[in-house]
Amino acid sequence: MNTSGSNVTRRLQRYAAWWLTARATDRDEAFRERILRRATGLIVLLGLFSFFASIVLFRDEWRFLSFPTLHILALISCVFVGIAIIYNRLVAAGWLLVMLALVSTSGILLLSRRNGSVAGIFLAVPIFSMVPVLAAIVLPRSRIVPVSLASVVAFALAQFGIPMGDFKVAGLEDEFMVVPVALLLFFEGFLLRQLRTEFDARLSEMRKFLLETEQAKRQAEIERKRAEAADQAKSQFLANTSHELRTPLNAIIGYDEIMLAGMAGEFTPQQRKLLGIIQQSSRRLLDLINDILDLSKIEAGSLELHLVPINPAKTLRSVVDGLRGIADEKQIRLDVVIAENAPETFVSDKTKLEQIWINLLSNAIKFTEVGGVTVSMCGRDDGGLAFDVSDTGIGIAEDAQAYIFDPFRQVDGSLKRKYQGTGLGLSITKRLVEALGGSIQVTSQHEAGSTFAVVLPKRQAETLDQRSG
Ligand code: ADP
Repeated sequence: MNTSGSNVTRRLQRYAAWWLTARATDRDEAFRERILRRATGLIVLLGLFSFFASIVLFRDEWRFLSFPTLHILALISCVFVGIAIIYNRLVAAGWLLVMLALVSTSGILLLSRRNGSVAGIFLAVPIFSMVPVLAAIVLPRSRIVPVSLASVVAFALAQFGIPMGDFKVAGLEDEFMVVPVALLLFFEGFLLRQLRTEFDARLSEMRKFLLETEQAKRQAEIERKRAEAADQAKSQFLANTSHELRTPLNAIIGYDEIMLAGMAGEFTPQQRKLLGIIQQSSRRLLDLINDILDLSKIEAGSLELHLVPINPAKTLRSVVDGLRGIADEKQIRLDVVIAENAPETFVSDKTKLEQIWINLLSNAIKFTEVGGVTVSMCGRDDGGLAFDVSDTGIGIAEDAQAYIFDPFRQVDGSLKRKYQGTGLGLSITKRLVEALGGSIQVTSQHEAGSTFAVVLPKRQAETLDQRSG
């Protein structure tokens, strides 16, 4: 007896669990489905209870509009709502449920009027308010206002529009009208609780998400600072090491020069040739170290600008004169074109500007075998300075133009490449141009030549105070 009883309970529990579990995977859909399932379940239970109450307690007659028929209608509608939910027609199920709520609230109001009851009329407003609440949960947002209007119309019709005869049901006293009204209010409370639970859950999820995002942001900031510090330490180390390397290397070059000058006695031609190789290799090594030192200084943020008025045309000409020997050796042209509007004086850092020109011009000479190199300079309307370094050399393939300004990148990076170099010149140049507030651009055609165009803005000269600071 006991076992079969517990079997039935278990089976009922299984059915209830099956019915109450939403199948939708989307969060909003699942919430709507859960409410629809629970609400129909609750209506069936409340409906059955009040159906028996209406028959047993009030002994209402079976007429077209009576408590028993209203209950039968509600229960049949619930079956249809259930079917719609099972077939995943959630919007249809929502509409059915809202219609059922409208009809049953109107029915209760009509029945209380027919019975001459006043309590039902007074309680009509709160029970009609349940319909928009239900619509807010199970229907799309745009349907809430129309459903609310429909419930106002239904209320007005039930209260004033439909004439009802005076038919007293024996035993259905005024106080009993409180029962259906109380049930509907209970149902409304149930709906609001579901809504609140979901709202709280989402709110706490959002809070958790915000907290996690905030923590992740803070962590990322710590990591960024750490990486920045490590990067600076690396650049500092590089700068120090390069400095330490330069000192002995300068000694090698210096003593080698002394020996080549014959100040340490005479050498055989073979020995002089070897000393020449030492000289050449040491200078190459010094160039590389200087480049690394420059780049690491820039990266460590210790690049200092000394902005003073200079004569740009004169400075450019002296840089070009210094490089003319190499161009002559290669038998290529090296021309300077200064536009009439080029400024007489321009505020800039002379050493940095010279280095930019040396880097661009020595590249242009290095990568040109026939034709020549032209550097042209002009002033800009905004007081800035613009110059181009063009050559008729090997040019730069289009895909390579994107990375030649990156450190250590060369178009031909292979060991057996024709042109010597470290791949640092252009990245240093770009950083120097940017440090001066300007920009650099390359246009080039493979095998036809390249043009590096630089624009520098007008700068204010440093005051004495700034320099001492
Ligand atoms: P490198 O020490 O190799 O010259 P750079 O940073 O100065 O290093 O230049 C990077 C690469 O860009 C060079 O290796 C070369 O492939 C290409 N490049 C730079 N300037 C020119 C130019 N005027 N003509 C052709 N290629 C150039």
